[in-house]
Amino acid sequence: GEVVRKIAAGEVVTGCYSVLKELVENSIDAGASFVEIEIRSGGKEYIKVRDNGTGMTLEEARLSLKPHTTSKIATIEDLDSLSTFGFRGEALSTIASVSRMLLSTVGVEDTLGVTLEVTAGEVIGEKFFNGARGTTVEVFDLLFNTPARRKFLKSVSIEGRMVTEMMQRFILSFHSVDFLYIRDGQKVYDTRGLTGIEDRVLMIYPELSRRDLLPFKEETREMRIEGLVTLPVRTKRNRMGENIFVNGRYVRQFELNYALERGYGEALEKGNFPFAVVFIQIDPVEVDVNIHPQKLEVKFASPATILEGLKRAVRSAIRNAGS
Ligand code: ADP
Ligand code: MG
Repeated sequence: GEVVRKIAAGEVVTGCYSVLKELVENSIDAGASFVEIEIRSGGKEYIKVRDNGTGMTLEEARLSLKPHTTSKIATIEDLDSLSTFGFRGEALSTIASVSRMLLSTVGVEDTLGVTLEVTAGEVIGEKFFNGARGTTVEVFDLLFNTPARRKFLKSVSIEGRMVTEMMQRFILSFHSVDFLYIRDGQKVYDTRGLTGIEDRVLMIYPELSRRDLLPFKEETREMRIEGLVTLPVRTKRNRMGENIFVNGRYVRQFELNYALERGYGEALEKGNFPFAVVFIQIDPVEVDVNIHPQKLEVKFASPATILEGLKRAVRSAIRNAGS
């Protein structure tokens, strides 16, 4: 019942950024090539995610708001080879249960779309419209019906900053998806017209220039490690510029950050950290991504291979730049 839903809300809704994360991951799971994100007041007042993905039929839309419904997992074996992000079927229904939501969607086979109006999990209206394929989810007044929990949301500026940081990771990670990100009416990021990961890095870190960027690639039979690091002189005083993705998921795992930094060796002065975008692709059976509820940590079956590979890849990129 309701109590269970409110407990689930504590896991899914840890801040406006976590709502955005679930919605954008759904858009990517739906095969979107363009995702528009808009927030107002850090997301506390308003969050919108619009995509051009597969959309949903009326039945699917209704079902998506029910707890524990997912279209993404058929058998328990699927859990091992999971390539989509969501699979618990909890996010949308949980977010709907603690907000006012408009869910508008047009399915692949449909020309008629439906908008479901939801308040605290209850569908209170259904309207039909003609529109382009895809889905738009709008979330108003997050946690309005759990005032005690709403108090735990951070200030507008902190919530907004966390959303922006999350958008940076999406933009870097999914470089074949276009993103438009609007915050309080201002366009913050628009990837349309950019070509490739370098352009995206330069958009996010305007302090860098193209010649600071060193691409690298290291491939073995069981993994591929590639990305960009910056010249040792282009550094930061914290690790916020180190973006590491494992099979498309952003991770914060100090072993990986250390391996990256060790690749620089002496070239990196103490207290300085590089900018980096690192993509590690490995067989999903070699990695467990579900040990942390926010999925920021992963567990590798053979970590030494990965860490050595990363260090070696970065080292050779730095060496080549120096010679
Ligand atoms: P999960 O992603 O774990 O399956 P969610 O609660 O996030 O669970 O979503 C429930 C279901 O709603 C999904 O399995 C999917 O079928 C559908 N859905 C949600 N968002 C979208 C979207 N943007 N486009 C198409 N289908 C969606
Ligand atoms: Mg999901």
